[in-house]
Amino acid sequence: MTEETRTRFDLDQNEIPRFWYNISADSPVPPAPVFDPATREPVTLEALLKLFPMPLIEQEVTTDRFVPIPDGVREVYKLYRPTPLLRARRLERELQTPAHIYYKYEGASPAGSHKLNTALAQAYYNKISGTKAMTTETGAGQWGSALAMAGKMFGIEVEVYMVNASYQGKPYRRVLMQTYGAQIYPSPSDRTKAGRSFRAQNPNHPGSLGIAISEAVEVAVESGGKKKYGLGSVLNHVLLHQTVIGEEALKQMDLAGEYPDVVIGCVGGGSNFGGIAFPFLRGNLREGRQTRFLAVEPTATPSLTRGVYGFDFGDSAGLVPILKMYTLGSDFIPDPIHAGGLRYHGMSPLVSALYHAGLIDAVAVGQREVFEAALQFTRTEGILPAPESAHAIRAAIDQAIDAREKGEKRVILFNLSGHGFLDLAAYDQYLHNGMQNGSVAESQLDGLAERLPKVKLE
Ligand SMILES: *Cc1c(COP(=O)(O)O)cnc(C)c1O
Repeated sequence: MTEETRTRFDLDQNEIPRFWYNISADSPVPPAPVFDPATREPVTLEALLKLFPMPLIEQEVTTDRFVPIPDGVREVYKLYRPTPLLRARRLERELQTPAHIYYKYEGASPAGSHKLNTALAQAYYNKISGTKAMTTETGAGQWGSALAMAGKMFGIEVEVYMVNASYQGKPYRRVLMQTYGAQIYPSPSDRTKAGRSFRAQNPNHPGSLGIAISEAVEVAVESGGKKKYGLGSVLNHVLLHQTVIGEEALKQMDLAGEYPDVVIGCVGGGSNFGGIAFPFLRGNLREGRQTRFLAVEPTATPSLTRGVYGFDFGDSAGLVPILKMYTLGSDFIPDPIHAGGLRYHGMSPLVSALYHAGLIDAVAVGQREVFEAALQFTRTEGILPAPESAHAIRAAIDQAIDAREKGEKRVILFNLSGHGFLDLAAYDQYLHNGMQNGSVAESQLDGLAERLPKVKLE
């Protein structure tokens, strides 16, 4: 086959990376302290150990540039890694753009998204640390199904608090999690103090990611060490595990004989974006490359483009350590857009710090334009994207159109974080009933900075 017609750039199984990449080693921004929500003092190791096993806490704070991927994790990665890198030739032709568009396809994982990359690592480290069960939250169900599968792979029980509105309205991911053998509870539930307090306000509470996190954390903290908590995004160790995406993509772009001018990912908590972007950002920080990085968020939860940068809670009840991040406030209730995985009020501290330092850019897009892009992609490339991933597609198409208008050859790489087979109800709505763009009224953000929790700095 000539280079001209090559569409897929595949790596061999033995080329699955042996290391995750830790951007903290090269980031010019020193890490911000993390605070205990109860004392507002810097968080103690003892408090963190109630939530996470020691190896994950070490990964949260390490400054080592490369962290070895254990053989036990690589063995299960072999079920779906290396994931494909494809060139979107048909999309390029339809757009009549001189740009080259590449995408990394994380929907190839058994659970359907990139989330398995960290779920497997977290289940593995919990197993070797003696944890019996893991608790977690899930919104639309992508993270819950990834952890449910990972739990089975390593013999850990998994208990999932699922946002009530999704539990009722999106049954199929619940069924998938139950098929993997996990216990699923609609949140707010009556199993926790946090859940009961929200149910007292409203017995049919629709729930939120922030409330579900509070429940999962409470169960872990109260378990006397038997259960630990797993978070699917935001934290440093989660982004670390996701860099397996970008490390593979680096080698695959090399196979394609190109290097990206712009790397794009959608952002909810920032993990799939960090996963594809950080290994290329290393090229900027250490090798003088000049790649641009574009984080794409929904107009319904524009934490980077409209939030404030400060210390905030990660959950609604204020049980999770306080992190420095771009945030819309932990009591922010977003419009009910279909990209459930992007409806989080905060943003990973690593992505937040790099954005604040001007090393990455961000853009917010409306969900109508996102579904328009999703359809164009499905009809040219054949893959039905998750609504979350379609945010990245929107931005990639906009980049390709911009390149056409400027007559530039631009190499675009985006992460296709998951497939949309369990999101067909959203497509049905777009195709037959139209769709609203999510938005945030200026009044929702009034006095935001003053409402954030006060921490004891120095
Ligand atoms: C959860 C999810 C996201 C958003 O989470 P990040 O941590 O920002 O990556 C994006 N895409 C898919 C398919 C998801 O499941």
